[in-house]
Amino acid sequence: MDILKDYLTKTAGEELNAEMLTFVANIDAVAKKRPEIAKSIVKELVDQRSHLKLIASENFCSLAVQSAMGNLLTDKYAEGYAGNRFYAGCDNVDDIERLASKEAMALLGAEHAYVQPHSGADANLVAFWAILRKHVQTPALEKFGEKNLLNITKEQWDEIRAEMGNQKLLGMDLYSGGHLTHGYRHNVSAQMFDVYNYHVDKETGLLDYENLRQMLHDIKPLIFLIGFSAYTGAVDYELLKSYADEVGAVMMVDMAHFAGLVAGGGLTGKYNPIPYAHICTTTTHKTLRGPRGGMVLCKKEYAEYVDKGCPHVMGGPLPNVMAAKAIAFKEANTPEFKAYAKKIIENSKQLAASLIEKGIKVQAGGTENHIVLVDVAALGLTGRQAESALRECGMTLNRNTLPFDEYGPWYTSGLRLGTPATTTLGMGRDEMAEIADIIAAVLKSIKPALDKKGNVSKARYTLDEDVKTASIRRIKGILDKFVLYPEIDTDFFTKYFN
Ligand SMILES: *Cc1c(COP(=O)(O)O)cnc(C)c1O
Repeated sequence: MDILKDYLTKTAGEELNAEMLTFVANIDAVAKKRPEIAKSIVKELVDQRSHLKLIASENFCSLAVQSAMGNLLTDKYAEGYAGNRFYAGCDNVDDIERLASKEAMALLGAEHAYVQPHSGADANLVAFWAILRKHVQTPALEKFGEKNLLNITKEQWDEIRAEMGNQKLLGMDLYSGGHLTHGYRHNVSAQMFDVYNYHVDKETGLLDYENLRQMLHDIKPLIFLIGFSAYTGAVDYELLKSYADEVGAVMMVDMAHFAGLVAGGGLTGKYNPIPYAHICTTTTHKTLRGPRGGMVLCKKEYAEYVDKGCPHVMGGPLPNVMAAKAIAFKEANTPEFKAYAKKIIENSKQLAASLIEKGIKVQAGGTENHIVLVDVAALGLTGRQAESALRECGMTLNRNTLPFDEYGPWYTSGLRLGTPATTTLGMGRDEMAEIADIIAAVLKSIKPALDKKGNVSKARYTLDEDVKTASIRRIKGILDKFVLYPEIDTDFFTKYFN
């Protein structure tokens, strides 16, 4: 099969579509080695194009970002950081890393940016270890009159290890919306720290600031960690910083989900964590709409520790992804992206309001960011049933625990919806109202089925076929107007990959 040649023949004499040509050339190169992988890539595009993406943590990055990732830069080792490498020949990677870091600081108004982490989870490990090194290890070494870890005795090292491993972290409970890297027992963070959790208020579903302040005073943690994957309230970082200061805690904010809202000015003033937090971590692929990756932003006094991500917790960085980050940060530093960030929140508020109007229970009664949490337990369903049924009806989203969830993280009581991806496609409030209407119709038509033992199942369900047919038709109607990567014609590939 010679996909590129066929494409060039087919389009001879036509005006050049550079994006399509690039895509075809990539698929052609992959297909020559592994046709099944080429097929999966094309099928994934078809899938993402034909299902409405409501996953709050996903987005659609630009084709330029994708091109920067797919090339020889991936071959280069560059352990260390720009200007301080453990390998020769890093001049070009130095330029890329410096540029990405500079763009990140300009975009987010941070004093320092470390762009190497491969993911949000990595970024958190880098930040944790930087804080432990600055506040525990370095002072301990000084106490021993040493500067170099390699020069202390085994007994001294054991003492430092014990002290490093016994520091307190106060983070948000997973069920209240926190992330598993914030001290969830099944994550390494729970072994690294003596972890304490705060929850949202049972009545309001929101943070209880007075309770948080009291916990800070009672626990006196080294790290006060704020940040979430499933929380819809506004967070007052100015106030929380004043509480952290009262007990001398390091304030770390994991803005993995909402960094794009900060970058685009959708969250400003006291709702922007960057001026207040000692350290912020983030992903670059969620609302920020860049390549899959992570980043640490920090105040100057943490920079020298953060820059030691390698050797602390990482090996070499991904130069190709740092290049893509530089492009994404530049794309985000534009009036278009500012408008985008504001529209994400507008759309999210509309989605929540329309769902409520249709009688669907929304966690905390609405949203102040890009996430909407739906309580499906109120309809007698699990999140698992709702997620599967909605996927059958043309929508991709994920089930999520709600605060104090009785079904646990596998079945869950909730759904998490988000507007970053649909907003990237150009959808607005009318579409959100329509989508809410479709979701409500589907949710109301799901009936839990019985399991093999005759009990009400937490996974199986039946779905009204008419509702399903109507939903698929209506979703298609919306997606036909807002096409993902319209430059790319997937029909062209049908003859190769059927
Ligand atoms: C998504 C997320 C992460 C992890 O990001 P990965 O890139 O998947 O490792 C960390 N923290 C929060 C709050 C997140 O939402």
